Parts: sequence; structure tokens; C-alpha cells
Amino acid sequence: MHSKTPRKIVHLDADAFFASVEQALNPELRTKPIAVGGRQRGIISSASYTARKRGVYTPMPTSQALKICPELIVIPGDHHRYQQFSRYMFQIIRDFTPYIEQCSIDEGYFELTARREPIQQTTQAVRSRIQSELGIPVSFGMGTSKLVTQIASKMYKPESFHLVPPGSEAMFLYPLSNRWLPGIGEKTGLALDRLGLFKVFHILEAPLELLQQVVGNYAAQLKQFAKGIDDRPVISQLEPAKSYGKQHTFLTDIGSLDEVELRLKQMLDRLMPKLRADSRKTKTLTLKLRYSDMNEAQGSESLPSPTCLESDIYPLIRPLLERIWEKKLRIRMIGISLSNLYSIDSLTEELPLFANQSGSSQTRLRLATTIDLLHKTLGANSIRPARDILPPSRKMNGK
Ligand SMILES: [Mg+2]
Repeated sequence: MHSKTPRKIVHLDADAFFASVEQALNPELRTKPIAVGGRQRGIISSASYTARKRGVYTPMPTSQALKICPELIVIPGDHHRYQQFSRYMFQIIRDFTPYIEQCSIDEGYFELTARREPIQQTTQAVRSRIQSELGIPVSFGMGTSKLVTQIASKMYKPESFHLVPPGSEAMFLYPLSNRWLPGIGEKTGLALDRLGLFKVFHILEAPLELLQQVVGNYAAQLKQFAKGIDDRPVISQLEPAKSYGKQHTFLTDIGSLDEVELRLKQMLDRLMPKLRADSRKTKTLTLKLRYSDMNEAQGSESLPSPTCLESDIYPLIRPLLERIWEKKLRIRMIGISLSNLYSIDSLTEELPLFANQSGSSQTRLRLATTIDLLHKTLGANSIRPARDILPPSRKMNGK
């Protein structure tokens, strides 16, 4: 057995998330049986615990739920709101640790191994902040692996706060039903039951060949899980809400497509070095226009794969601009933002020093980072694209 410091991992899972958000936003709903779902011919996607006690579950046809529980309040659901709450929830965790793996809108892992205080203390602080800032109930499982923490949070729902102490993982799992192990759904669970392997300890003791009959190649891994061994890492992602943006207000309102396009390219030239400096790539360009009358238009375009190069994004600008611009209106302000971010693990390693395929993305990346360096050392005007120095052709936009 290897002895290394046990990890401190937390699994969190919001309780009846959509319904809880609705209740947090509307205090009158807090004690009532409510559900989020389609009213006509729809299904229930989230039910409050009060509704669950009356027999409402997910997914269930709304019509059936209303038969079982006629006083059920069915709310259509506002995904934008739920995304917002989800973002806030994970932002709160980010104040405690950067090691966060979000698995779904309301579920994820975070790792606190680097923190000195007991895991319950930090988790309690996270829990209090979610409670006071968002007002939604959340379940927490704490322990040394993804395996036990996920089970601990789900098993004691709602509002669970359960620690599986280091060293007790196998004991914790031993009496549980086989359905708690990862990858064991109802169908596989039944197949294991038929072999008499109802509990985790049965799986632990079963011969590998027997397990292979049901789960094939997964048998060895399943046995490891049954022993309480799980080294799967918490994989941190980038902050999903993060984007890079800039806006510009013109001194006089503009009606020329060329002029707006040029300005957007210049803004992009300012943004991309920031992305490269942060080792990020982007996939999605969003443009926003504000007209003289203060109305706005907005649109996005995505690349098939992420990039950190201006030159990959330039071709998106003109068609997107033409698509969203109601041409009769003059433009007062423009905004550009880049989202759908990915990390470049090591930018420098991707830079062959003597690449000579001219125009390849490697070469363009090398050129871009060289220019970034010149700007940093010699100033922003040391080297500029010719289009910024030559005046644009003042072709008016159809007027
Ligand atoms: Mg949940």
C-alpha cells in the first residue's frame, strides 16, 4: 500500500435544483409542492421535496403529476435563471479553491487538499455562503475520492453533510447496494443481483471471471471501486463565465460597414494578446451594436476549433456584421467579445523555432507572439498592421 497524504475532495449536488431556485426567488412557493416542467403534454424536470413526498418524481408526465397531487404548482422553468444560479454557486466555491470540476448544472467536485484546516470547516463555509447568498439547499459529501464523496452526498439527501473519514472508505461502501457503484445502472444491477451479487461486499469477494460475465472489461476497475480505491483526479476547468471583451463608442455615429469592420479588427488585435498571455484559445466571437436610437443588436459566430490567432477570427467579422446590422441605422457603440475558452497548455512548446511552412498556424502563432513581445518591450506603436496606417476606403454603406 502506498502512503501519501489523503486527498480532501468534496462532491456537491444541489437539491431539487430548478425547483429550489424558483423557491429562492419566490418566498410564497417555499412551503408548497412545486415542480418545474411543461404544463401541456410536458414532463416534470424538477420537483420540490414537498412535491416528492406526495409521489411526484422526475421525469414524470405533468398530467400524471397533477393527478397524484392536484395542488401541485407547475412552473414553466427559466433556464437562463438556473444557469445564473449555477454560475453563482460555482463562483462561491472558486473563492475557496481553484480546483473545481463541474459535472452538470448543479453538480461537481472540488478539491481542498492544499488547505490546512479540516475539510468540514471549509465545506461548512462554502455551504453557509451558498445558503445566505443564493438561498438554495445543497448536499455535500466529503472524503478522499470522487467515489465515496459522490455516494455520500447523494445517499443522505437533501442537505447532506457527510464525511467519509480517510481509511474508512471500504467500510463505508461494504454494505451498500451494487447500484451505488459507478457505471452500475438498473439493468447491470439486476444482472449482478441474479448472480447473488447484491451488495458491494459481494462484488469484493466475487471471482473476477464471474464479474466479467456481467461487466466485461470493467470487472477489474469495478473490483477496485468495491475496495474503496479510486485515484481519479479532480479535473479543473476554466471558469465558464469568463470571456474577453472590449467596447468602443464612436465620437460621431457611423454608417460605414468598412469603418466599423476596421475598428472591430483593431479591437480584436488588442484582445488576442491578452488571451495568449493567459494561455487561452477561443471558439466564439460575439459582436454587439448599439444604434443612434440606443437600440441594440447582437450576434455570435463560432469557429470549428478554438484558436488564439487574430487571423483565424478576421474572416468571421464581416459576415457577422452584415448579418446583425440593420443597415438603415447608424452605429453609436460597438462591442466585441470572445468566449468558449480553452486552455493552451504550453504555448511555447507549440512554437517550433524554425518552422518554415509559411502561413501555417504555427508560423502565424510565432509571428503573433513575436509581435506581442515587441509591443511589450517597445510600445504599442512599434509595429502595426498596414491597414491601421493607411486610411480605409470610405465606401458608404449603401447610402
Ligand atoms: Mg441535484
